[in-house]
Amino acid sequence: MPSAPIPLREHVPLAPLTTWRIGGPARWLAEPSSEQIPALLQWARAEGLRVWWLGRGSNVLIDDAGLDGLVILTRDKMTRLERKGDCIEAEAGVSLPRLAKFAAHEGYAGYEFLIGIPGTVGAAVAINAGFKQGDPRHMLALVQEADLLALDGSTRTVTMQEVNARYRYTDILETEELVLRARLKLERVGDPEQIRSETREHLLQRKRTQPLTRPTAGSVFKAVPDGTPAAVYIDRAGLKGLQEGGAMVSPKHANWIENAGGATARDVLHLVEIVQEKVQAEFDLDLEPEIRYLHSNV
Ligand SMILES: Cc1cc2nc3c(=O)[nH]c(=O)nc-3n(C[C@H](O)[C@H](O)[C@H](O)COP(=O)(O)OP(=O)(O)OC[C@H]3O[C@@H](n4cnc5c(N)ncnc54)[C@H](O)[C@@H]3O)c2cc1C
Repeated sequence: MPSAPIPLREHVPLAPLTTWRIGGPARWLAEPSSEQIPALLQWARAEGLRVWWLGRGSNVLIDDAGLDGLVILTRDKMTRLERKGDCIEAEAGVSLPRLAKFAAHEGYAGYEFLIGIPGTVGAAVAINAGFKQGDPRHMLALVQEADLLALDGSTRTVTMQEVNARYRYTDILETEELVLRARLKLERVGDPEQIRSETREHLLQRKRTQPLTRPTAGSVFKAVPDGTPAAVYIDRAGLKGLQEGGAMVSPKHANWIENAGGATARDVLHLVEIVQEKVQAEFDLDLEPEIRYLHSNV
């Protein structure tokens, strides 16, 4: 678009930018640096365009019709990662495995669990990505403070005490602010060999238990309020292997939905609905999706 402050791409397929490989195109896609975003947002407002943030696309289901507005991709240009005094500063688009390796290299423990989560720092803060419910290994436990950018272009810095957060939720998701960068704690000095071995163990454990050979988006549903993983109920309901179009409840991990070939967002949404209905009917439990469905419908 001629008047945009940085070059944009038009009608960009989004499926390849997601781990599920599902979804239609973005009307506009931008890959700005952190410094370029305020001008871009101002321009989008003037053009009346809706804006979406996208990291590595590992926790989203993008609508088959695509996103009719501006998608701002953080993974390519917002990737500064450095030691700053007594913390690590990571921009939104830094990948979590890279952060895990960086912390290990600096000799700090506590970041090992991030090695197998294929997302970005910004999204992980907004979602509070991490281990199981109740487990202390989650993103916000590592963050000292974060710089947030609102859709109106204003910025603020928040400490994690100021963020309303719980298992797989922060109120940043409600305000729709962009997590521009996070400053992460360096508290637990560790033995480098021990850190490396724990990191390796995390990866091996994932390979043993997760279906990593087909496109997925990790866990589809949150654990139920008492902390029991959703997979337990989906498995007990006999739903492993259930297929709707190209989407299949993983035979290896009941809380994952695999793209078994040509799956659409519609297939996934149908399958999600069926799983919810069956688990509700059998166990009187409401499964809440963990994945975020991005669409242009109002
Ligand atoms: C194989 C596999 C394993 C996984 N394992 C785990 C796990 O163990 N634990 C776990 O918690 N998750 C896991 N996930 C899910 C996912 O990797 C995490 O939720 C990750 O934090 C998402 O990051 P992303 O950059 O891919 O986010 P995206 O999918 O790009 O975006 C997710 C949401 O965050 C928003 N968003 C993106 N960037 C920002 C930003 N900078 N600021 C604010 N909002 C933003 C998006 O608009 C969207 O609503 C797994 C996924 C896969 C595929």
